[in-house]
Amino acid sequence: MSRRVAVAGAGMAGLVAAARLRELGCEVDHTEKGTRVGGSMLLSSCVVWRHRDWDEFRRECPGGDETVQRLIWERLDSAIEWISSRGAPVVWEETGNPRTVGKRFEPRGLAEALASDVRLGVSAIPDAPVILATGGFAASNDLVQEHIRPAAPLRLRGNEWSQGDGLRFGLERGAALTPALDEFYGRNMPDAAWDETQLVSLSQLYGRFARIFDSDGVEFFQRDDVSWSETNVVQATARRPDAKAFYVLDEEALRQRVRERTVAEMVEAAPAEARVPLADLPFDPPPGAVAAVRVVASITHTIGGLRVDGAARVADGVWAAGIDAGGVAAGGYASGLAQALVLGLVAAEDAAS
Ligand SMILES: Cc1cc2nc3c(=O)[nH]c(=O)nc-3n(C[C@H](O)[C@H](O)[C@H](O)COP(=O)(O)OP(=O)(O)OC[C@H]3O[C@@H](n4cnc5c(N)ncnc54)[C@H](O)[C@@H]3O)c2cc1C
Repeated sequence: MSRRVAVAGAGMAGLVAAARLRELGCEVDHTEKGTRVGGSMLLSSCVVWRHRDWDEFRRECPGGDETVQRLIWERLDSAIEWISSRGAPVVWEETGNPRTVGKRFEPRGLAEALASDVRLGVSAIPDAPVILATGGFAASNDLVQEHIRPAAPLRLRGNEWSQGDGLRFGLERGAALTPALDEFYGRNMPDAAWDETQLVSLSQLYGRFARIFDSDGVEFFQRDDVSWSETNVVQATARRPDAKAFYVLDEEALRQRVRERTVAEMVEAAPAEARVPLADLPFDPPPGAVAAVRVVASITHTIGGLRVDGAARVADGVWAAGIDAGGVAAGGYASGLAQALVLGLVAAEDAAS
């Protein structure tokens, strides 16, 4: 008789785990809390990547578990080949970032290539053996408040269903937590209305060129300290009054490019409510300032979570994959999709055996 394994969550990690389990001859009970499959992956830019250089990964994410980081770093290239061979459509053969290697996929096509027999709208997590792939706790205000402690509730920049169900289930079954529960990956977004179709296009990814103030006029972050992923300035913004900041720009800053757009174009694309006339700033603008945008810290996913071993196990008969598995990017930023892809495969292979 074939082995039966449950998978909770049909985002990146869950889709990968379920597909791999079936490939290995298992019977799969696949549940998804949301009204659709794909999780935050479906909303994402879908660049699946790793740091080019192992030492740089360690330098950038020094608080992460080295065994799990090594597993992801070493297995990602073959995992990308696996997912491509399953029919996930590749849109970029390279990431376009010299620090990283990987591929960009088309998210809807990726979900269609992997999804099969998912029970939608089910939040109860089936009993062991189960692979937890519920995407962390970014969508739970209570858990974010408890662990991340922002100055104000964070705006959500990801799927609405990742509310810590996997975390709670794992803890009940005896799992341990990782460090870095107070860290998160997100973006500073315009302090205005936006919807899930604008999560990529409205990201204000030019903190490294801006002067960065809070609403008390404190210049709380120096542009030279902004990391390439800008995650550090977003985490710092979350702890300033109202979890907001002002990016103040001079002419030179506006001329800079971030990928295919100039900073001026990104500012222009921000909703008018977030573009603040200099005279309306709650502090004196610095010399040379020509534009200002009010931004709000927004959370995409959590970085701390359940502690996994080298086989993605968290407790007897329980595995965690993707963002439910914490401590991979602690101290910095690494690809959540790579974490989901590799740990989804590893969890499935161990659960199948
Ligand atoms: C705008 C945006 C851009 C991004 N760009 C990139 C990028 O280019 N590269 C990158 O690496 N990462 C990117 N990310 C992050 C990436 O999308 C996530 O890291 C990745 O999707 C995590 O995979 P996951 O499977 O852990 O979680 P998800 O893909 O979010 O899936 C979790 C799933 O679990 C479901 N769920 C929750 N609770 C339950 C329950 N109790 N039972 C059953 N199901 C449940 C959720 O509904 C969801 O479908 C981006 C994210 C966003 C929002």
